[in-house]
Amino acid sequence: MKTINDLNNKINGYEQRAVEHTVNVDQLNQLIAQLKLAEEKSARLAAIVETSDDAIISKNLNSIITSWNNSAQRIFGYTAEEMIGQSILKLIPDDRIQEEPHILKRLKSGERVDHFETKRLTKDKKLIDVSLSISPIKDTKGNIIGLSKIARDITDKKQEEQRKNDFIALVSHELKTPLTSIKSYVQMMLTKTKKDADPFGVNLMSRAEVQVKKMTDMIHDFLSLSRLEAGKILYTKSSFKLLALMDEVVNEMQMLSPDHHIEFHRFDEAVTVYGDRDKIGQVMLNLLSNAVKYSPASSTVTVGGESIGKNIKIYVKDQGVGISPVDQKRLFERFYRVQNEQIKNISGFGIGLYLVAEILREHQSDIVVNSALHEGATFYFVLQT
Ligand code: ADP
Repeated sequence: MKTINDLNNKINGYEQRAVEHTVNVDQLNQLIAQLKLAEEKSARLAAIVETSDDAIISKNLNSIITSWNNSAQRIFGYTAEEMIGQSILKLIPDDRIQEEPHILKRLKSGERVDHFETKRLTKDKKLIDVSLSISPIKDTKGNIIGLSKIARDITDKKQEEQRKNDFIALVSHELKTPLTSIKSYVQMMLTKTKKDADPFGVNLMSRAEVQVKKMTDMIHDFLSLSRLEAGKILYTKSSFKLLALMDEVVNEMQMLSPDHHIEFHRFDEAVTVYGDRDKIGQVMLNLLSNAVKYSPASSTVTVGGESIGKNIKIYVKDQGVGISPVDQKRLFERFYRVQNEQIKNISGFGIGLYLVAEILREHQSDIVVNSALHEGATFYFVLQT
């Protein structure tokens, strides 16, 4: 649809020509009808913008604010008069100033920014949690001439999440102590049954040990999640031999999942990476336990490392249920679980892959998935050596 300005200009020209009797009156009437429609549409949009509960702000490519609705005033405290013509940077806390060029770059390359959770500053210098959705404003030729931003105040939601996190942290912490005791009793019993050559006892105690280990890993993930959310995850980085760590993880996984065949493609044992050894181990364990969990018994899970220039790519491949392209996009979100018939009875909390992505982000790496539904999945990431 043409802009109201375009239409007005055209109508002015036609009116002049009408006076000079060089234009058809029908054409002029058609244009006036189009103008009426455009004005109605614009009025409807303006009403939506003004009554929205979210702040709706537009700005040009130099980050100068060009419009500011009622909710923007309610949420940030500034009036339209105070903000139009000002830089959007006024709302961004000092430690997040780099977000603006980053967002601009993403939008210029055609990406949308949806539900980006961050913090912003109000007029009275209060930090609030907001979720931002930003899209480009284009002219009739498709050039990006500005950005429109919808900001939702999510401070209450964040506080609710905080309460939930505190609860998860508390419960996980309380569960850890009795579980550690159970683990040592089971191990003592296992040693005894082995010594007594009691195969029934050994069988039962080995199974109990596996279940205790699974529960410990789950609690470990919960504790990591709540620490991560509270910004309290501590990374202790050092140089370590990658193959030795992978050996430990693969052995542990094979012990936990005797029904699967884990094939380990070994690589040079001298390969050293710099990072948090325990957390990288947690990443591998999560990927391996998913590979086992989402693939049928007696199938093969392949894990290995492969040099790419100076770096090493670590991969975990399974022959399981696979993941659709739609789910692949959301897999690394917190609490996200795929909903389908095939896996509805497999339990989990949807935090493993979120932790994997967060831990790798701290190691300047990304987790990547290659998969198709019913065709297994391969997860990989690259570490600097
Ligand atoms: P959880 O397994 O506890 O649900 P994750 O965060 O580890 O949580 O995984 C999120 C979702 O991703 C899972 O619910 C599952 O649907 C899917 N998924 C993860 N790994 C695989 C895999 N190897 N094959 C198929 N689906 C997977």
